Amino acid sequence: MQLYNSLTHKREEFYTNEPGKVKIYTCGPTVYHFAHIGNLRTYIMEDILVRYLEFAGYDVLRVMNITDVGHLSSDADTGEDKMLKGAKREHKTVMEIADYYTKAFLSDADKLHIKRADVTQPATGCIAEFIDMISALLEKGYAYQAGGNVYFDTSKLDRYYVFGEHDAEDLEVGVREGVEADDNKKNKADFVLWFTKSKFEDQELKWESPWGYGYPGWHIECSAISLKYCGEYLDIHCGGIDNQFPHHTNEIAQSESYLGHKWCNFWFHVLHLNTAGGKMSKSSGKFLTLSVLEQQGVDPLAYRYFCLNSHYRKNLIYSDEALENAATAYKKLRVRCAALKEEGERDKELEKIYLNKFNEALENDLNTSLALTAVYDVLKSDMSDNSKRAVISEYDRVLALDLLVPYPEEKKEDGGDPEILAKIAERAAAKKAKDYARADAIRAELAAQGVTLIDTPQGTTYKRG
Ligand SMILES: [Zn+2]
Repeated sequence: MQLYNSLTHKREEFYTNEPGKVKIYTCGPTVYHFAHIGNLRTYIMEDILVRYLEFAGYDVLRVMNITDVGHLSSDADTGEDKMLKGAKREHKTVMEIADYYTKAFLSDADKLHIKRADVTQPATGCIAEFIDMISALLEKGYAYQAGGNVYFDTSKLDRYYVFGEHDAEDLEVGVREGVEADDNKKNKADFVLWFTKSKFEDQELKWESPWGYGYPGWHIECSAISLKYCGEYLDIHCGGIDNQFPHHTNEIAQSESYLGHKWCNFWFHVLHLNTAGGKMSKSSGKFLTLSVLEQQGVDPLAYRYFCLNSHYRKNLIYSDEALENAATAYKKLRVRCAALKEEGERDKELEKIYLNKFNEALENDLNTSLALTAVYDVLKSDMSDNSKRAVISEYDRVLALDLLVPYPEEKKEDGGDPEILAKIAERAAAKKAKDYARADAIRAELAAQGVTLIDTPQGTTYKRG
C-alpha cells in the first residue's frame, strides 16, 4: 500500500514495526463544544484508513485521547483554557462540560459510522503518566523550570521543525499561530509541559506535582497516552493538518527525547474543510455541526459519502448545494444497491476482478473517490445480482455506507401518522409564535419516540429510526 507520509513529504510503501500489526494514535477532540463537520471529516477519513487496513488483513490497535484539560485558546501556550471557557459559557463545571461534549462527539461518530477507537482515554485520567514523562525529560536535560512552569527546551534538539523546512504549506500553517513572547522561555519555540502559573488564575482542574499545584500543557497528553497504550514504536499518527504545527511537532520533540529513538513512522494528516469564505473553525464562531445538518434533513451517511468523494489530502470545499447533490447521489446509489436481489449464479472470478479494482483504488494513498467509482462499475457490470451484492458487501466493510440496507422511507405531511402530523403542526405554530422552547420540546419528544423531523423549504416531514 502506498501512503503519503507528511514527515518525509512523499508517498511511501507502507510498512509496520511488527508484521501484520498496526498501532495507530489519533488526536481526539477537545470537548468544550460540538465538533464541527470539518473535524468530523478528519475522523471519517481516519476511519477509512483503519477500515482499509483491517480489510487488507492487518490487526489494528487504535488509541485516541479526549482533551478535557489544558488546551488553551491559543496553540502557543497562551490564553484561557478552552474547557474553562466552555464551562463559563454554559454555567456548568468543567467536568460536566467534558462529559456532555464527549458523549455528543461519540454519538456523532456513531451516526457517521466512524468506528470507536480500541482505547479512548480522557487526558484527566493520565495525570500520573504526564508527571512521570515530564520528570524524565527534566532528568535528561530536555526541560527546565522557569517562573513556576516547566518548559521543553527546543534548543536541545538537532531538528525541531521536523515537518516544516521543505513544504510551503507546512510553513504557512506554522506561521499562522505565531509564538507569543513569554519571558520565561529560553527559546521562542519552547513550550510548556506543566503550568503552575497562568494569567488565568481560576483554572478549575489542578493536580499536585513535583513542580507545584498545576495542570499539564496540551501536547504532553498525546505523547504520554500514546506511549502508555501503543508502546515505544508507533506505526501511524493521525490528525488534522492544523495539528501538524505546533502540536505534532511538539509531540515528536517530547516522545523522541524521552525514548532516545525514532517514535512514529507515518504521519497521516487530513486537510481542511473550507467554505467559500475560508476555513471552517470553532473560533470563527460560525460553524456547522452534524445536528445542524440533520435538522436540514441531511442523512449523516450522506455527509460521509460527500467526504469520500474527495481525497483526504485535498481541501474540500463545502457548500449546501454540493452537499445536497451528494445526498441525492447517495440516496440513488443506496436505493440501487439495496434493490439487488439474491438471485443468479455467482461468478467468483469476476468478483475477484472487481474486488481488486477497489483494492487498487485504496492502496493508492486511499483514493476514496475511485473506490466509490468501483461501486458504480459493479452496478453496471454483467455480474448477476448475487455477485454484485457479494462484492458491494465487501466494499462496504470499508466504505461503511449501509449500501445494502434499504433507504428509510420518508413520509410527507399528507398521508402520515396523524398524531405525529398534529405535533408537527403544533411545532410550526410554536415557531411562528417564536416559542422556540416549545418547538424544541416537541422535536425532543418525537425524537424520544424514534421520530426525526426534517425541515425543508416545502415544510416539515419526518422519518422513523
Ligand atoms: Zn494530539
